[in-house]
Amino acid sequence: MIVVMDPQSSRRDVADVVKLLDAMGAASHVVEGPTRSVIQLLKVDGKFDRARLEDAPMVEKILEEPAPILAAGRQPGDETLAVPLNSSEVMGGKKLGIIAGPCSVESTEGLLKIAAAVAELGAVALRGGAFKPRTSPYSFQGNEERALEMLARAREKTGLAIVTEVMSAEQIELVQPYADVLQIGSRNMHNSAVLKAAGHQPKPVLLNRGWSATLGEFLLAAEYVIQAGNSNVILCERGIRAHEEYVRNTLALAVVPEVKRISRLPIIVDPSHGTGQAHLVAPMSKAAIACGADGLLIEVHTDPSQAWSDGPQTLDVDQFRSLMAGLKPFAEAAGRAL
Ligand code: PEP
Ligand code: MN
Repeated sequence: MIVVMDPQSSRRDVADVVKLLDAMGAASHVVEGPTRSVIQLLKVDGKFDRARLEDAPMVEKILEEPAPILAAGRQPGDETLAVPLNSSEVMGGKKLGIIAGPCSVESTEGLLKIAAAVAELGAVALRGGAFKPRTSPYSFQGNEERALEMLARAREKTGLAIVTEVMSAEQIELVQPYADVLQIGSRNMHNSAVLKAAGHQPKPVLLNRGWSATLGEFLLAAEYVIQAGNSNVILCERGIRAHEEYVRNTLALAVVPEVKRISRLPIIVDPSHGTGQAHLVAPMSKAAIACGADGLLIEVHTDPSQAWSDGPQTLDVDQFRSLMAGLKPFAEAAGRAL
């Protein structure tokens, strides 16, 4: 059971409720958040009086479920949160946010070419991995700090916001100054140490869904970041592991309208990792926009056949151009701008 305190409640109000719980013989644990506190009831016995607790000053409600979505939840009338990517662009507003770029940052020259192309075609942010979470230790692991410097150059040249992944809490200190948005990848969605550390710093967080995570687990991961102090979280549906073999992952697009129903966080879709196949990226991008996604994450490279990682799912510049053109009617139909 969880006692949710009113957002206006003071520490004193919380302490009074804890005292009341003590008097009722209930053991409890206070979780102080940036917007409100909650009190988890660890053990109740015969003296517990629920009605009295409900009536206590500044108690908003009592929830039975063990894992409520509080900070990321949508209340009736809430707008989707507009998360600033940099001083000029947001994710979650009327304009769709297209994030594009290579899987791995390879060279300065290559990155600048890709960045210039995607900027001209309407992307608001450049993605590129400096630290790559690879399944095999024999695969390319990323150009690390050199790649971060290349990303900073690309930002200088194009004005695009930079999205790049952090794989551990310790890495945040190094990556954060170079990035506008910190990405937490699928493999780390369950890593509460990384989630908390991302919540302790001010840059927005792009949180990928774990490939076997339920929607509830995905939202609770976001809750960790917000609870630690950073409300600027963007969710990213990037496909889940199923038994299919014609795709790398199965893109679970129904989470988009479901997230819109229960959460105020913006949600984008990554059809590149979500399918693993370049020819499926455009149709799934259109479907994502049609069902209400706030943006897309698309892997783009000047020559996907030579990409150091994820080439088969990567679009070349011409394919990205036709994707952007093809999205227009879908954006309009969804009441969004591109
Ligand atoms: C990526 O964006 O390149 C990536 C590794 O994503 P995910 O964590 O979703 O696999
Ligand atoms: Mn990739």
